[in-house]
Amino acid sequence: MCGIVAYLGDRNAFEVIIKGLKRLEYRGYDSSGIALSADNQLKLYKKTGKVSELESFTNSEDLNGGTGIGHTRWATHGEPTDNNAHPHLSFDGTLGIIHNGIIENYASLKQELLNKGYEFKSDTDSEVVIHFIEDIRKNNNCKLDEAVRLALSKVIGAYAIVIIDRNDPSRLIAARKGSPLVIGVGKGEYFLASDATPIIEYTNEVVYLNDFEIAIVCREGLTLKNMEDVESSPYIQKIDMELDAIEKGGFKHFMLKEIFEQPKSIGDAMRGRLNAAEGQLALGGIRDYLNRLISADRIIVLACGTSWHAGLVAEYFFEEWCRIPVEVEYASEFRYRNPIIKEGDVIIAISQSGETADTLAAIELAKSKGAIIFGVVNAVGSSIPRATHVGAYIHAGPEIGVASTKAFTSQVTVLSMIAMIVSYKKGTISETSYHELLVELETIPEKVQIALGLDQRSQSIARSFMNATNFLYLGRGYNFPVALEGALKLKEISYIHAEGYPAAEMKHGPIALIDEEMPVVVIATNDSSYEKIISNIQEVKARKGKVIAIVTEGDEVIPRLADYVLEVPKTHEALMPLVSVIPLQLLSYYIADLRGCNVDQPRNLAKSVTVE
Ligand code: GLU
Repeated sequence: MCGIVAYLGDRNAFEVIIKGLKRLEYRGYDSSGIALSADNQLKLYKKTGKVSELESFTNSEDLNGGTGIGHTRWATHGEPTDNNAHPHLSFDGTLGIIHNGIIENYASLKQELLNKGYEFKSDTDSEVVIHFIEDIRKNNNCKLDEAVRLALSKVIGAYAIVIIDRNDPSRLIAARKGSPLVIGVGKGEYFLASDATPIIEYTNEVVYLNDFEIAIVCREGLTLKNMEDVESSPYIQKIDMELDAIEKGGFKHFMLKEIFEQPKSIGDAMRGRLNAAEGQLALGGIRDYLNRLISADRIIVLACGTSWHAGLVAEYFFEEWCRIPVEVEYASEFRYRNPIIKEGDVIIAISQSGETADTLAAIELAKSKGAIIFGVVNAVGSSIPRATHVGAYIHAGPEIGVASTKAFTSQVTVLSMIAMIVSYKKGTISETSYHELLVELETIPEKVQIALGLDQRSQSIARSFMNATNFLYLGRGYNFPVALEGALKLKEISYIHAEGYPAAEMKHGPIALIDEEMPVVVIATNDSSYEKIISNIQEVKARKGKVIAIVTEGDEVIPRLADYVLEVPKTHEALMPLVSVIPLQLLSYYIADLRGCNVDQPRNLAKSVTVE
C-alpha cells in the first residue's frame, strides 16, 4: 500500500509531488512526507495525518527545487508518527528513500547495521534499506545505482523504492519487486509514481517498471538494468486515461461519483465485446486459452475482499451455465495451505488494482504447478495482468474511493460474459437461453440507471438507521454474495458492524441477534427463491427486527411485510446482483456520510493491498 511520487525536471518538484500524493491518498493516509534536493541539501518535511496537513505544515517554507520524492504512508512497521513517515534519510544524511512494501529481513539487516554503529530515527523497515545502501556505497566505493543493486540482492520482501541523492540532484534511482512503480516520461523531466494518476496531467508516455528492475532516472535519459547488472531499453507505452476520470466531477465523494458511474462503467465492460442484436459476444483477451476453460474439470477463483464476492457470483454462473465445478478461494488462505493444483487446472484471478499481494502470490504458486491463469483486472498494466496467461480487463476506469463499487459490477459483468461464452461453446446452455442472456445483459446499464433513482430514498432510510450498531444482510442464490458485499460496504466506510448471511442460514445462529434494534437488509428480488425469502422475512418480523427489503418493482407482497422497501427493475435472476447491489452501495454511502465518516478514505484501509 502507500503511495509514492517523485519528480525530476524544471518544474517545482514540491507542487508536482504534493498534487500527486493527494491523488494517491487512496493508497494510504496515516502520514506523509517530502524530501527536496536544493542548494546541496536535502530538505525534509514529514507530518502525521493526511497530505493536506503536510501541505499546511510546509506553508511558510521555501520549497524550491526541481528534484524531490514524496510518500503517503499506510504503516506496516512502526506507528503512524512524524518520525516513521517517509522519506527516511541515510545515517550521514546524504540519501533519502521512499518505500512501498515490506522488507521481511529488516530485523537482521538492522542488527548488522547497529553493530557497525548506525543509528535509526524510526521503527520502520524502510529506513534500514537506506542505511544499508549507504553502508554498501561506502564499503565498495561505488556509484549509487550499483550500491542499490548490491543492497537489493540481499533484501527479502516487497518494495517499490525511489532514492534521492543530496549531492546529485540530476538523478533519481528507483527499483521494484512486488510493489508497483510507473515512470512518466516528459520532455527532459520524469515523474515516478505508484500508479499513473499523478502523471497523466503532464505526459501520457509511461514505462511500467518490472520486478527486479532498477531505473536510473537522469535529465539526459532513463536507463534500466536488472539485478545481474544487464542494461535494457525502456519500453514506453501510451496510456489513455483522462484527467476527468480521476477528479470528483461535482460529487461530494469519489465513492458517490463511482456509484453513479456504473451505467457507464458496466457499458464500458461490454463495449466492443457484446452485440446482442448480432448475437455476438467475444473477449479477445481470453481467446488463446478459451479451450482450456471449456474443457476444465474445475475452476478455482482467487481473490480478496469485494473481488472475492464477485468471484462468488461467478461461481453461480459457471456452475449453472457451464456445469463446471468452481471453488472460490481467499487468495491468502489458498497460498498457505498446500493446495491441490493439477497441471492444466484453470484459475481465474480477480483484482481491481491488479496489485493485490496475496492474489499475486497465489497466482505464482498456481502457475508453478502448471495451472492456466486467467486474470480479471481493472488497472491496465498492473502486476497481475503481467503474471497471468490471459485475461480480460474490466475497463471500469480509475476507482479512487477505497470501498469498491463500480469495479464490483464491472467484474461481475466480465465474469458473466466469460461464463456465457464458455457455456455456449460447450453446449451446456440452450441457444435461446444464451440469446436471452445477451439481450438482458445489454439492458443492465439502463436498469442500473433506474436503480440509481433510489438515491433519495436510500438517503432517507440511512437517516433512520445511522445510529445502529449492528446490521444483518440476507440473500439467497445469486443475491447471497450481494448480501456479503452489502455488509462489507457498510463495515468498511461507516464502521458499523455488519454480517452478510445466506438467508436460510440465519436460523443457525444470527437469528439470536435479532430484536427491535436490529436492522435486517433482505435482498428479496423476485427469483426462484422468492417464496423462501418471504419466509425468512417473516422470521425476522416475528422477532421484531426492522426489515429493509430490496424487491423487484411491482412486488405487492413484501412491501406489506417489510418496514422499508427499495424497488429495483426486473432482470434475469443471474444478472440481478448487478442491479440489487446498487441500493446497498447507496445505503452504506449515506449512512457513512451522515455519521461524518471519511467515506473515500476509511480508517485503517487502503485501496490497493500490496502487502500480505
Ligand atoms: N513498510 C513501510 C512502512 O511501514 C512502508 C509501508 C507502505 O508500503 O505503506 O513504513
